[in-house]
Amino acid sequence: MTENNFKGIPASDGIAVGRVFCYSPVELTIPVCAAGSVDEEMARFDTARERARVELQGLYEVIERRAGKKDASIFEAHQQMLSDPALEGKIREFVEIGQTVEQALVQATEELASLLSGMNDELFAARAQDVKDVGRRILRILLGLPDTALGAVVQPSIIVAEDLTPSDTASLDPKLTLGFITAQGGLTSHSAILARTLGLPAIVGMGDVLLDRVSNGTFIVMDGRTGEMIVEPDAETVAHYKQIKVQRDSHLQILKAAAEKDAFTANGRRVEVAANIGEVASARDAMEHGAEGIGLLRTEFLYLEDTQPPSEEKQYQIYCEIFEVMCGRPVIVRTLDIGGDKPPSYLPFPDEMNPFLGWRAIRISLDEPELFKTQLRAILRAAVGHQARIMFPMVSDLDELRRARDIVDAVKRDLAIASVGFAFDVPVGIMVETPAAAVLVDVLAEASDFFSLGTNDLTQYTMAVDRGNAKVSGLFQPLHPAVLRLIRHTIDAGHSKGKWVGMCGELAGMTKAIPILLGFGLDEFSMSARAIPEAKDLIGKLTDEKAREIASQAMSFGTAAEIENYMKGILASL
Ligand code: PEP
Ligand code: MG
Repeated sequence: MTENNFKGIPASDGIAVGRVFCYSPVELTIPVCAAGSVDEEMARFDTARERARVELQGLYEVIERRAGKKDASIFEAHQQMLSDPALEGKIREFVEIGQTVEQALVQATEELASLLSGMNDELFAARAQDVKDVGRRILRILLGLPDTALGAVVQPSIIVAEDLTPSDTASLDPKLTLGFITAQGGLTSHSAILARTLGLPAIVGMGDVLLDRVSNGTFIVMDGRTGEMIVEPDAETVAHYKQIKVQRDSHLQILKAAAEKDAFTANGRRVEVAANIGEVASARDAMEHGAEGIGLLRTEFLYLEDTQPPSEEKQYQIYCEIFEVMCGRPVIVRTLDIGGDKPPSYLPFPDEMNPFLGWRAIRISLDEPELFKTQLRAILRAAVGHQARIMFPMVSDLDELRRARDIVDAVKRDLAIASVGFAFDVPVGIMVETPAAAVLVDVLAEASDFFSLGTNDLTQYTMAVDRGNAKVSGLFQPLHPAVLRLIRHTIDAGHSKGKWVGMCGELAGMTKAIPILLGFGLDEFSMSARAIPEAKDLIGKLTDEKAREIASQAMSFGTAAEIENYMKGILASL
């Protein structure tokens, strides 16, 4: 690494070469002037709030069109915050003691945000960010300033910022954004997720060095695949990266066209390559990228977008639409996986020291049978004439699985008694995402028709590392030998019981893992749609024998770094 080369966390694949636009949020200076009457100040607040609502609705619509409902839902949450009585009450309190609405707003949002971030919980800390984001928006409107400084980007640029809020990321114009790099943020930050959905190169967590070394107009190269940034590269480096970019773009186009065909290993073994999706828009994207099915339909967006749980009818309509888009291909519908970092407002969530170890996923479904039954009814009804499967998240015990299956049977009985049409023979399986489930696969096989490895949580629980905590992100190693042993055991034990074993965790779409997983005999790889063409190509280059050799060599190493290093060499040789 030379003094002009820097490395951050690679957050979204792709290369960009261009000039930097340094984004720093507009300085909002509160004018010193006398406050009007309480009614006058509160009326100004109301007008600004309405304007903010219109802006947020606009952002919601833009992101919904570009990336789907799930990514857009943050702006719905911001709209709800505008009507938060706690915020309005606090502002009124300050106005009543003689402050202008601008001063009152700043003080009120600061108090609310510090209350939330003082709770020492990642989720509340994120809410604190949202409160600040909403407060800034109203203040900017009160000051009569334009929507965002990102509006000043007039030529294609690489956006560099301390951090990007969801509102910032949403205002990026894809035609003018070559990619972005942030000093803060981790792989699971909103901006990183959105970048992957939109296909924008992104690097996050570069650290303070970023803003020390680049400013407006600095010429840089960024590689979202490796996390590298090169400042003021020489002509040779630029030519090199431009060439890689052109080759890569055309290679991806070729792979995308080839991905229409089903995946086979070089010796002709059929391997399913499917997509992970969260809603109808991404089902269409999955089809365009060659998905042979849906290995994971995350249904939680339905439970998080509103202040009440979704009705059976609403769910039925959405599932039907997704099944239809997938034209008879298999779709695995995961039942609600809420709790952890995704608690909806309408359930009585306890104060939890460790929400990821707490009231989450299947545990909630078993404790809230009516909520669970509503979802199961919708899935079973929508599944008529389609290849649907039901999958339970976060199972760690046979009794838990038996109870969940009993509820499925009870729902079927109720539907039959009520003469409502439903699919009787929908396979029911589980995610293997707790070490307990991985170790117990042979036992769980009694009540599970199939297994799908959830390596995001399996890594989190095996390595005892919070998957959303940037401070320990270096320990989140899905290619760690401990995780790989559990994966291999799950596949072997599942197969010995005659069960199909897939994988829907992020690892399934990582080229550095695919040869190993193929060597373990994994039946299905489910990943983000954009990763499919490359995955299919890689699978087609490997025989099972070669993959087994690679897997066995990889398993001889003692650390994730050694395995990654070995796999780098393998990928370069293919
Ligand atoms: C997983 O844990 O690997 C998984 C696919 O589920 P989620 O990321 O939704 O928890
Ligand atoms: Mg999971």
